Amino acid sequence: MTDHPRVPLAGVIGHPIAHSRSPALHTYWLKRYGIRGHYVPLDIAPADLQAMLHALPKMGFVGANVTIPHKEAILKIPDVIITDRAALIGAANTLIFRKDGRIQADNTDGSGFIANLRQNAPQWNPAAGPAVIFGAGGAARAVVAALIEVGVPEVRITNRTRPRAEALRSDFGAKVTVMEWVQAANMLEDAATVVNTTSLGMTGKPDFRVPLDALRPEAVVTDLVYTPLMTQFLIEAQAKGCTVVDGLGMLLHQAAPGFERWFGHRPEVDEETRRAVLMS
Ligand code: NAP
Repeated sequence: MTDHPRVPLAGVIGHPIAHSRSPALHTYWLKRYGIRGHYVPLDIAPADLQAMLHALPKMGFVGANVTIPHKEAILKIPDVIITDRAALIGAANTLIFRKDGRIQADNTDGSGFIANLRQNAPQWNPAAGPAVIFGAGGAARAVVAALIEVGVPEVRITNRTRPRAEALRSDFGAKVTVMEWVQAANMLEDAATVVNTTSLGMTGKPDFRVPLDALRPEAVVTDLVYTPLMTQFLIEAQAKGCTVVDGLGMLLHQAAPGFERWFGHRPEVDEETRRAVLMS
């Protein structure tokens, strides 16, 4: 017996999990690069999380992605090694089951967010002006951390539930300012980067409606929602002349580092990858 069986296994842990695009994405990459391995959905209830986490490596798993509702809970499990960026964000989305038996928890949402903007809006300059963030949930935390890291001078946050936005200010410091949800449109003047991190605009949810009159055409506007790909928010920003970037690229880019760690090959995030996921 070796430390790991010859065919490595990985998966995505969530509850529910049937909606996840991650199995289609990783399975596509495995086939594309001719790698022997499997990536499966793992529906694990919160009460079973700790026991299952310790069982998975024994079953041949080399790692996993983590999604709702486990992204924060995973950091509270004893003996998990937490990377600095996962600790800062307060959530993990990528687990490595190390050969020494330890579990490492990382967060690649922020790097995936930045990689998506750099790939699809190559002229984007984070230092060109303030970033405006709508929403203050788990995804917003990763986005704010990443934007500060790449040199955004000011991050303006607004959220329906103001204390969640205030919590981001106290965690991320003086570059963050908080504004009232009802005055959200006023934050857009001179913004260089505008991000919807709320779940509004997703198929089945109400549209995300904010007057975009103050938006400059030089702004790069992105939405974390990727069903539909072109949200009403992005359609309106595009009509104002802005460069818009949909959220699917973030999903693809956040997955790449995990795939590389588990299966030993850095996968391409390109048109072919997008098509494969969209057709799944
Ligand atoms: P979350 O922690 O549950 O946060 C949800 C956010 O949406 C909060 O700011 C919440 O405001 C806001 N919201 C929900 N319903 C609202 C409403 N009716 N009116 C105003 N605000 C509302 O979720 P999350 O993990 O941050 O995810 C947020 C979105 O990002 C989801 O659509 C998710 O699918 C997407 N996402 C995409 C990627 C990607 O790779 N593209 C990665 C991560 C997440 P309150 O605080 O007031 O409730």
